[in-house]
Amino acid sequence: MTDFAATRAMFHLPEGMIYLDGNSLGPMPVAAAARVAQAVTDEWGQMLITGWNKAGWMDQPARVGNRIARLIGAAPGTVVMGDTLSIKVYQALASALEMNPKRRVILSDTGNFPSDLYMAEGLCRTLGGQYRLKTVAPEEVMSAIDDTVAVTLITEVDYRTGRRHDMADITARAHEMGALTVWDLAHSAGAFPVDLTGARADFAVGCTYKYLNSGPGGPAFIYVAPAHADKARPALSGWLGHEAPFAFDLAYRPGAGIERMRVGTPPVLQLAALEAALDVWDHVDMKDLRAASLRLQDLFIKRVETQIPGLQLATPRSHAMRGSQVSFRHPEGYAIMQALIAEGVVGDFRAPDILRFGFTPLFIDEDDVARAVNIWARIMDLGTWDKPAFKQRQKVT
Ligand SMILES: *Cc1c(COP(=O)(O)O)cnc(C)c1O
Repeated sequence: MTDFAATRAMFHLPEGMIYLDGNSLGPMPVAAAARVAQAVTDEWGQMLITGWNKAGWMDQPARVGNRIARLIGAAPGTVVMGDTLSIKVYQALASALEMNPKRRVILSDTGNFPSDLYMAEGLCRTLGGQYRLKTVAPEEVMSAIDDTVAVTLITEVDYRTGRRHDMADITARAHEMGALTVWDLAHSAGAFPVDLTGARADFAVGCTYKYLNSGPGGPAFIYVAPAHADKARPALSGWLGHEAPFAFDLAYRPGAGIERMRVGTPPVLQLAALEAALDVWDHVDMKDLRAASLRLQDLFIKRVETQIPGLQLATPRSHAMRGSQVSFRHPEGYAIMQALIAEGVVGDFRAPDILRFGFTPLFIDEDDVARAVNIWARIMDLGTWDKPAFKQRQKVT
């Protein structure tokens, strides 16, 4: 059994704060501070350029990728780190489209994160406008997969509602219709068990600063199924994805397998933080994590619905259709969230009316949930959210 009291002790959590936003930016693992300091002082400071070999910086994207692979049901050698998620979406999509050259439609859904849709639109423009991004309601994805679809670009868990797609079902349907799949695991990796191999996913991408706790600006990852890894053409053909970067050939030749999805210089210091963050996962059984996450979510929903009137649950009640977040709608959601944050209960707000709370058993327990709901109920009873200061929109919501 996973000892969640032990994992909680591995995080630095500010005194008095109930942090329900690990789905957006994970908290700092205590060991990350020391690990980054060591990378700065002992590696960068002392080794300088020799750190690429001596400290293993050059192999870090693949080494760390293998540790992520374990958490998402991927085989060793199928995941590599680098860039940001938006870039990885573009990269996966471009390769997938090229592998299905007779078709012109990218299928996504209206619940997808805008950056994924923007990247897809941008790629369509770059490809000369013969390609088209088609978005349907999340419930309509299955029926919209027809023989015009080249690639599905689906984020498994909706960033606003927390609604979860069935990855295995959608992938099977896509394959049946001759389409390839790109899965965005932004709200899946580290949130619950993911089985890319079992689902037969073609490509997957995700970020590490959410449930994997790599810190602000932490790098993204990309997965390519072993069957495609030596066929997929990298659209972002940078030198570190080359077969022999230090041959400095004038012509590009893609590297072996997943290595070709590297682009340029890896973010060494961010990867050091991520390596420390991943140590926490050595103590976690994903099944235990899922069970604990659902317990926390169910408790939260039950308490909110008993203690606070006037809210509408935006997240599906069915466990199978949920990730690791719970969202409620309220017309004054923004101000209410600011009032909650002022009292140490940190969630976030997503336009137009969503109050969003992430539940991460690694550092959140039942006590936190009960206290958070009590604080929220008091804010609603006293109307303390109804202040001009709480209605002033900040740049990041
Ligand atoms: C968080 C998130 C992103 C963010 O992309 P970055 O390039 O890392 O800023 C993209 N897509 C989805 C689905 C996300 O949830």
